[in-house]
Amino acid sequence: MELTPVAVIRHNVGPIDGLFLFDTLALIMLIQKNIPIAQYTTFKIGGPARYFCAVKNEDDLLEAVKFSKEKKLPILVIGGGSNLLVADSGFNGMVIRNEIKGKDWKEGNDGIVTVTAGAGEDWEGLVKESVDRGLYGLEGLSSIPGTVGASPVQNIGAYGVDVSHAIKSVRAFDTTALGFVSLSNEDCGFTYRDSMFKHEKGRYIISAVTYELSKNGKVSVEYKDLKDYFAKKGNSQPTLKDVREAVIEIRKNKLPDWTDWGTAGSFFKNPVVSAQKFTELKKLYPELPGFTEQDGHVKLSLGWILDKLCNAKGLTIGNVGTYEKQALVVVAKPGATAQEVLDFSNELMRRVKDKTGIEIEGEVEWAVA
Ligand SMILES: Cc1cc2nc3c(=O)[nH]c(=O)nc-3n(C[C@H](O)[C@H](O)[C@H](O)COP(=O)(O)OP(=O)(O)OC[C@H]3O[C@@H](n4cnc5c(N)ncnc54)[C@H](O)[C@@H]3O)c2cc1C
Repeated sequence: MELTPVAVIRHNVGPIDGLFLFDTLALIMLIQKNIPIAQYTTFKIGGPARYFCAVKNEDDLLEAVKFSKEKKLPILVIGGGSNLLVADSGFNGMVIRNEIKGKDWKEGNDGIVTVTAGAGEDWEGLVKESVDRGLYGLEGLSSIPGTVGASPVQNIGAYGVDVSHAIKSVRAFDTTALGFVSLSNEDCGFTYRDSMFKHEKGRYIISAVTYELSKNGKVSVEYKDLKDYFAKKGNSQPTLKDVREAVIEIRKNKLPDWTDWGTAGSFFKNPVVSAQKFTELKKLYPELPGFTEQDGHVKLSLGWILDKLCNAKGLTIGNVGTYEKQALVVVAKPGATAQEVLDFSNELMRRVKDKTGIEIEGEVEWAVA
């Protein structure tokens, strides 16, 4: 395995006053060959990247794209690798790890505060800081692993809140037009666990995201788990901090610790069906939970379907299984392969189709080239 750099990119920038040594080092980017990607993902699975580099600023990003274009390499951008399943054969292209940091907080009128965060910032760190500053908007999304740059990609969400409600704009490098663009919330085409970035796969590399938060917001505790949590605590007026703590505690009891397990959280999206299909299913399974959306469609609880109808909670085949406390979460033992995870997920898909007629969709990104 070759671990030495194949390219050392030095940006064409002179030394900066008084910061010569530090900044000279910071302006160097290494491009390496045959780097195992598993170590950069929470599944801890996947073969090597043919080329790999970590970008710390937009200049690095440009150089990495230039290098890839010259060599005609497909590009895979990764953040925390917490929503990825990388093929056992690895990625026969360039893997760019986004490590662009920085947060810029700006106070506007009427208690509105915007924060622009570098794509490589830790998501949980941003949520914590926003709550510490008394800002409403992200508290329900506490404890989700990963980076800021990936938050718009699958429009991360939990406990009835999606990040799209807080995203003002996204700054990204457009690898087709070869320039940086600013995309509005509308441009991003957000829907449930989905956005334009998933459909124009590989076209945009996000370098920063701007969120709009509020000093005068209201906490949302409509979601059943949160309602139950506060009812049990006898807390009828939870504060911003209370909601963040509740979400962290609920998640801790429901989800595996990804530092111990190989996992990417929920492996599938909850299916959304027509009202008619929901009625048909309710006749067969009267206890099936469903949440009616604004457009009349009904979002089903796939965790319930896998558990109650497919007998899949805690199911294990070889090195791969569903988590004992939440059937929607696939977990892998050390040594598991991507193929085993795929085979297992196909088995779950088959069981759901047999019981409900529904073809479920993956939430985790399959990375192969
Ligand atoms: C235990 C656990 C719990 C989880 N819970 C939730 C949850 O409650 N809600 C939820 O929505 N998700 C959840 N996830 C999934 C995951 O944490 C999120 O999807 C997260 O946003 C992924 O961030 P990342 O930086 O790890 O992205 P990666 O896994 O590195 O990448 C995910 C996708 O985004 C793309 N991408 C990443 N960075 C960029 C960038 N800068 N520019 C362009 N594309 C980019 C990648 O190419 C890939 O397609 C969970 C995962 C785990 C392991």
